Amino acid sequence: MLEKKGRERIVIMRYVKKKYFFSDWSKLRDIFTQNNLFLFLDFDGTLAPIADTPGKAKIDSSIKKLLRQLSFLKNCRVAIVSGRSLKDIKQKVGLQKIIYVGNHGFEIDGPKINFKKKVSLKSKKIFKCIAKAVKIRHQDFPGIVIQDKEMTLSIHYRLVEKKKVRFFEAFFKKVVAFYLKKGEIIVNPGKKVYEVYPPIFWHKGKAVSWLLRKTRFFQNKRKIRAIYIGDDETDENAFVSLKSRALTIRVGLKKSSYARYYLHNVNDVRIFLERIFLLKRGQQ
Ligand SMILES: [Mg+2]
Repeated sequence: MLEKKGRERIVIMRYVKKKYFFSDWSKLRDIFTQNNLFLFLDFDGTLAPIADTPGKAKIDSSIKKLLRQLSFLKNCRVAIVSGRSLKDIKQKVGLQKIIYVGNHGFEIDGPKINFKKKVSLKSKKIFKCIAKAVKIRHQDFPGIVIQDKEMTLSIHYRLVEKKKVRFFEAFFKKVVAFYLKKGEIIVNPGKKVYEVYPPIFWHKGKAVSWLLRKTRFFQNKRKIRAIYIGDDETDENAFVSLKSRALTIRVGLKKSSYARYYLHNVNDVRIFLERIFLLKRGQQ
């Protein structure tokens, strides 16, 4: 987990026993029926299967159709929360009425919202230095994908040869050690990816909490029920900080997760979206 800095209180949480989401459906559907729903969905591994490289990831047309249908309902809002840059995630999904939370929450855009977190020039320079240091060793570790997204940096190593992964991880830790020691960056490991952030306590969960405090997204006065679905370590920050504000679901059962529920895979997410759509459409 990210360390909380400054005056932030350190929250000690225990992993809870996770339940398969659909096993509680009959209980949850009443809650979903009564309230407005705000869906927060990660992209890679949640709406689209994980691909060898980020460029190859693709959202299935049936899921895209459901997202579009949901985005037109008055009692439902959809936000896609991703580590990809805003431009990238918008292109990948390509729908109008959706809120896009890009760059791990550092940039947000959609109906009634436009936000950009300030990131210092110094941080941006550090990302370039790290990217350069990794790029120099490109021949030793073929398959590395570097994404300098200006506000955050991602180094993907899914395609690095299995026997070299250990060496790459050791090399990367050496590259970032200097900056980490000085508190100039935050590093979060994900699924065969290192996410590098500026030293600001801001992440997907913080961004979603911030969005939930805004009341402008729904016209009616009904309560808002938030649901967050994600599959990766960066989503764990969201599971922790949204504990009291959202129903949290991890894609793929993992004991060491802070999410309350789990779904098996992207297809389960599709079934989830379908059920929610049928439920909420009936109320229009
Ligand atoms: Mg993901």
